[in-house]
Amino acid sequence: MTFMDTDQKESILVVEDEKKISEIVRAYLEKEGYQVRVAQTGQEALGCLKERYDLIILDLMLPDMQGEDICRVVRENSDTPVIMLTAKSGEEDRIRGLGIGADDYVVKPFSPRELVARVKALLRRTGKTKKKVLSFNRAALLINAGDREVTLGGKPVIVTPTEFRILMSFAENPGRIFSRDRLATIAQGFDFEGYDRTIDAHVKNLRHKIESDSKDPEYIKTVYGIGYKFIGIPDAD
Ligand code: CA
Repeated sequence: MTFMDTDQKESILVVEDEKKISEIVRAYLEKEGYQVRVAQTGQEALGCLKERYDLIILDLMLPDMQGEDICRVVRENSDTPVIMLTAKSGEEDRIRGLGIGADDYVVKPFSPRELVARVKALLRRTGKTKKKVLSFNRAALLINAGDREVTLGGKPVIVTPTEFRILMSFAENPGRIFSRDRLATIAQGFDFEGYDRTIDAHVKNLRHKIESDSKDPEYIKTVYGIGYKFIGIPDAD
């Protein structure tokens, strides 16, 4: 994957119809050495998605499409991290955005510096993984930390970078109870706003992907009043 190359700077797709904003964002990102491509409409963005990017910055409100729809298309094909730009700061929108696979949110008006900081943090988190495969429940669940791939019963499972980070933390510490606070730090870095329900949304998505029965989980168990723990049984090496 491209983010493993340390020499080459990461490529970022900016989907934003307000030219003033996209130009400022482009200038700030290019100053940091990123390769930037700007799409001004949803259709243009879909065309751009034929290529791979290390990160996508996506405006929620576009003239011809909703950002959520583009995010969905991205998620169907890849685990490229997505930061959503939105004018809506309500928690419901936030949860909805995370529910469709956005990894972070920046509410307009935002400072370009803050956006750049979030881009860096997200790229750092998604790139920082060790090469190994963790195996659980007689190889039913395999987590490849190097390639960031998850397979369940031999079939690939598409998880977002945030979900992958949460799953990796669980899988590296079977039986350990993770508080929502701890998971929020793992998932979001320095963004703590509304973390409880955000973490629940991520865990719900993960369960949907890896549990056959969320009410009787094989992997992620709820610890009432505290958080969650991973109950998959590690396979012997
Ligand atoms: Ca817009």
